[in-house]
Amino acid sequence: MMLISLSKAEKLIYQALPVPKTTSIPLAKANDYVLATDIKAKRDYPPFDRITKDGIASASFTGEGQQHMDSNGYAQAGKPQAVLEDTGKANEVATGAPLPQCTDAVIPYEEIEKQADEVILKTKQVRARQHIHPQGSDSKKGTILIKKGAIIGSLEVAILGYNGIHTVSVYAKPHIAIVTTGDELVATDAKAEPHQLRRSNDVMLQAALQGYGFANIHCSHVPDDAAQLHAEFVKVLGVADVVLISGGVSKGVYDLIPDVLKKLAVKNIFHGVCQRPGKPMWFGKKKSSLVFGLPGNPVSALTCTLRYVVPALKKISGCIEPLIDYKTLGEAVDVNVPFTVFLPVKTKLDNEVVSVPNNGSGDFTSLVDSSGFIELSSDTRHFYAGECYPFIPWRTPCQF
Ligand code: AMP
Ligand code: MG
Repeated sequence: MMLISLSKAEKLIYQALPVPKTTSIPLAKANDYVLATDIKAKRDYPPFDRITKDGIASASFTGEGQQHMDSNGYAQAGKPQAVLEDTGKANEVATGAPLPQCTDAVIPYEEIEKQADEVILKTKQVRARQHIHPQGSDSKKGTILIKKGAIIGSLEVAILGYNGIHTVSVYAKPHIAIVTTGDELVATDAKAEPHQLRRSNDVMLQAALQGYGFANIHCSHVPDDAAQLHAEFVKVLGVADVVLISGGVSKGVYDLIPDVLKKLAVKNIFHGVCQRPGKPMWFGKKKSSLVFGLPGNPVSALTCTLRYVVPALKKISGCIEPLIDYKTLGEAVDVNVPFTVFLPVKTKLDNEVVSVPNNGSGDFTSLVDSSGFIELSSDTRHFYAGECYPFIPWRTPCQF
């Protein structure tokens, strides 16, 4: 195992990423995808002079006083544009309707009094074009409404729907396989003998990835057996774009993953990073499939997934730049290894973070009170209160 720095590991991963692929999906499923094309306005928005208040419209408001209403004139939303026949009169109008031809201002009901065929204006202040949302004032036909590379959320789906796009060109999301290994691990619903543990990395990693919008995940568990591991990897490498392996990458006799992957001609790009936790992390590639070998200790597996795998998945799904959050340290921290340290922290009421002690990378139960981890670089061993460091949350925003 030849240890490399975090920045080298990151660089090697980014160099190995395949070019994002495009695909088309129905609008109702487009949330969280990244747009693969610019979206241009197919019409002016709004497409007509849209009335924004229920009331009356006319061309000739002269001030306070009486106004005759055109008897057959009601401009209803959803109906073609009405015409005010007699420009000395007024039309009754509804919010959302096109402004009737020959009118140029709207007076809301609150500012008039209706009496039979007449209306009495209660206001002197009528501005030309008031309460009208002018055609094309939001965007003109042909202008770009959303740029390629935008992440689709609720606003974007609304704009796409409004623009008549029911099939959206997006970047494809990867098919992911999670393969957990370890003879000591039994299923959650199985009886655990005193020497056995229930496995949890599969559900943990799946939940972490789902939190970032990656839902196409297949999970399997394989014992520490070279032939069975080989057979499983043949299967998943044929279909998955990204394979996450949990366990079996350290130096133990039954840490078989590096050898099995070598026999399958998966190119090893690095094995071992100067980081704590997650030192034995393995990374490689076969054709366009990426393989992340994560240490089995749950804190290591989750930390490496959030720090390396999620940004890689985002990038191959078309995301331009991952957003990095920073937190202020509320205490001094000394580190006694020349490694990058991912320190679990909790946020105090003043929004500063302090470390949450745990029993090493196997202990995730002590971390339920923590909100995530900060990254302390290997450049220095002393980190001072009041300094800011990159922060990655355990839980994604939709989990709050
Ligand atoms: P390994 O990296 O295979 O040496 O695994 C290190 C330790 O991580 C094991 O001894 C287990 O305690 C734990 N572990 C490995 N895989 C899992 C898993 N899928 N779920 C929960 N704990 C695991
Ligand atoms: Mg193991």
